[in-house]
Amino acid sequence: MHTNRIKIKPLTRYLWALPCTIVGITWVLPVLLLGAKARGVSGALEISLPNSDHIISKLYQRPPFIAITFGHVIIGKSTAELARLRTHEHAHVRQYECWGILFFIAYPLSSLLQWARGRHPYWDNHFEIAARAAEKRALATR
Ligand SMILES: [Zn+2]
Repeated sequence: MHTNRIKIKPLTRYLWALPCTIVGITWVLPVLLLGAKARGVSGALEISLPNSDHIISKLYQRPPFIAITFGHVIIGKSTAELARLRTHEHAHVRQYECWGILFFIAYPLSSLLQWARGRHPYWDNHFEIAARAAEKRALATR
């Protein structure tokens, strides 16, 4: 019985986060089809956008992020940035596994609450603070 629970749990996490993963895949699909680098890392799909010379990069010119996570899809400006931000973005993957589609409400709500309290909507966002804490823990254990 215990073994069955361990086998089912990862699948449940993927299914619970699936609507968000689909949003990420849909958003990045054009560059994915035209040769963006994609690879699986720790159960998530990391996709790096092509460099600025690539014709399709005009679609995603100057994205307002270095890396962004949708469910089990992490989109980054480059493989180097994906590597640099891996712990942080994978912390967001764990948050999607916990919140599922509700993350699309919880994250902006946290930003809104912080903004309403006169704080910074990004830096004081509960989920960003937790992701930065995961980074600090990873650095401390190296
Ligand atoms: Zn973050």
